[in-house]
Formats: sequence, C-alpha cells, structure tokens
Amino acid sequence: MENTALTYLCPDCLAYLRYEGKEGKWVCDYCDGRFTREELEQRGAGTKQDDYEVKPAEEAAEPAVDVSYHYEENVELSEEDLSHMKAYICPSCGAEIVTDDVTAATFCVFCENPTILPSKLEGEYRPSAILPFETNKEDAKKAFLNLCKGKKLLPKGYTSEQRLEKITGVYVPFWLFDCKADFDYHATGENISTWTDTRFMYTKTDLYHIHRAGQMEFENIPLDASEKMRDDLMDALEPFHLEKKQPFDMSYLSGFLAEKYTYEPKDLYDRMTSRITPGVENKAGEARGGYQRVYGVKCHTDFSSDKQAYMLLPVWMLISRYNGKEYLFAMNGQTGKIVGELPVSSGQTAKWFGITFIITFLIAMVIVFLVGGVF
Ligand SMILES: [Zn+2]
Ligand SMILES: [Zn+2]
Repeated sequence: MENTALTYLCPDCLAYLRYEGKEGKWVCDYCDGRFTREELEQRGAGTKQDDYEVKPAEEAAEPAVDVSYHYEENVELSEEDLSHMKAYICPSCGAEIVTDDVTAATFCVFCENPTILPSKLEGEYRPSAILPFETNKEDAKKAFLNLCKGKKLLPKGYTSEQRLEKITGVYVPFWLFDCKADFDYHATGENISTWTDTRFMYTKTDLYHIHRAGQMEFENIPLDASEKMRDDLMDALEPFHLEKKQPFDMSYLSGFLAEKYTYEPKDLYDRMTSRITPGVENKAGEARGGYQRVYGVKCHTDFSSDKQAYMLLPVWMLISRYNGKEYLFAMNGQTGKIVGELPVSSGQTAKWFGITFIITFLIAMVIVFLVGGVF
C-alpha cells in the first residue's frame, strides 16, 4: 500500500478519468465520456492500482520535472528543494515525476495520467469531507487573463500559454474549528444632559458601569493546514460555501494536486483565536443601550475548541517568479473569487487586487445567550 498509485478508469475505454468540477462529472478525455457518480457506480467503473517505484529526487533522470503550481523560466530545482522531494515513476508512461513529501494526489506532466497516492490519505490523514471544485481550468485561465488585462506595466510575455498551462487545481488541507468564546465585558457608559433656568446653566453627567458576560459559539472557522500556503492569501479566498461539502472520496482528486496537512490543530489554535477575537469584542459591545459615549472597554475572553474537522478545499494556484520575487495568483475553486499579485516591469511595488477582507463573523456565528446586563 505504501507505494501504490490509484487511477480511476473510464468504463467505456479504460483510459483515466478526471473530475470536471464545472459539470460535477468524471470525464474521459480519450472517448469524451462523461459520467455522474451514479452512472459510474451502475457501470461498475474500476480503478487501477499500480505499485510505483520511488527514489530520491536527486537520482531522477534529468531534467527532474516539478509537478506543482510554480512557474519559473529556466530555473532548476535547488538542492534544498530536491531534498524534500521524491521521484516516482509514472505507472502509465514510465516518466519520472518529482513530488514532495506532502503530495497526496498528482498527475503526470507527460501523459496527464492522474494519480492518487492513497497511503497519504489514510488514518489520521483521511479527511472527513471534501469540497469539490465547481470551476475548471479554463475559468481560472480566463480569470488570470482578466486580472492582467489593461496592466500596461506587466512584463512582456506574462500571459504566455506556458504560464497559463501552469495554473493548477489544488485541494488544500484545512482544519475547520468549532469554538466557544466565553466573554466578560466591562465598560463605562456616559450620558450628559444640560438645562438652564433664569440664573444658571446646569450639566449633569450620569456614569454607568456596563457589564456583559456570555458565550458565543462559532462553527467551521477555516484555517489552512499547509505550511506552503500563505495564510493571508488563503484567508482572502474565503468564503467557501461549506454546506456543499461531500463525504471524502478519493475520486474527486482525479486530475488535481492534493496535499496532506503539515499543521495540526494545536499549531493553528492561536491563529484561530486571533481571527475571532475582534468579532467577539464588537459583538459583546453592540446594542449599548443608548449611551452617548462608551469608554474604558475591557473584554476578557476564554476560548475552547473541542472539535476540528479535516477537510480539503479547492483552489486554483499559480506562483510565478519574476526578478527574484514570487507573485501569486489564486482562485477559489468553488466560487471563482480571485486574489492576485502582478509584477510591474518598472519596479513599482506590486498591488493586491480583488481582496475583500472577510470579517470572520460571517462564519456561522450563533450567539447563545447574554447574561448580565446593565448595572
Ligand atoms: Zn473513455
Ligand atoms: Zn505519465
């Protein structure tokens, strides 16, 4: 099992199948067959399991081919890169494909045979669910071209066909946290009233101590669990509509890259609490009850999370290197939302496009109850 590669086969012609997110079907590029999950089950569609040979990447036949979403011109993999990588022999055409230790699904750049490595998806690495792609590579290419459109300072050839081809669908590992936040909120509320009579003007200042305590519950706070993925970027691709998730099934990985997690939930705990803290404080202070001014806010929150689900979420990726710097393009594989950086040949700094800051609060928040009140 350790070195077994799995391929899903077309029931008509026995060529490989890939998952086509836009149609929600498994597609054979040889006979143009298109199948739903039910059809595949009815037809008794098979899988092919091949034992593959692995060797250290340094020993791969030259040139070692990097199957990833990195686009670089004439750059060879560094020793450092190679040390994390392994070469495996494509069971279909015999080419040597280089992948890294966390790859759970890949494809051959020569024959396009999609390959799933089941040993990377077992036991603690078996996701509980997967959010299938709903867009295809053509959509991602169009979005990239759109982003580049009208950018006069873009380096020549930045939208070349070779670069577009490098856009890759990746199932990124995420932990989804359920979290409870017990908050204790103190502040001072102030109301000032003034009036006059025939002799004086009066000012009255009423001060109130506001105390609120309670619990808020959060569900499905997504945090990417891959060391390779940039956190700010992954956050910017939200929201993912998680109600469309499917029970995990390896056949969705056909034709995509997939990775297993490198961060465990405990490694992400602080990132999780810091994402929701501002929301908790805002919500706790809401509906302040008609004070003209509120100041001296102190909010103490205790977080607890006893449930995290491991899930794979769909992202189209392209990382390009220009003048020694990396530029990233990514598209939410479900919604088509993009984030991207583009180089400018004049040396101006790159800009982020299309980033909308998504307040964590949109992530299914339920206020359970508020106790305390105004004293
Ligand atoms: Zn076929
Ligand atoms: Zn091959």
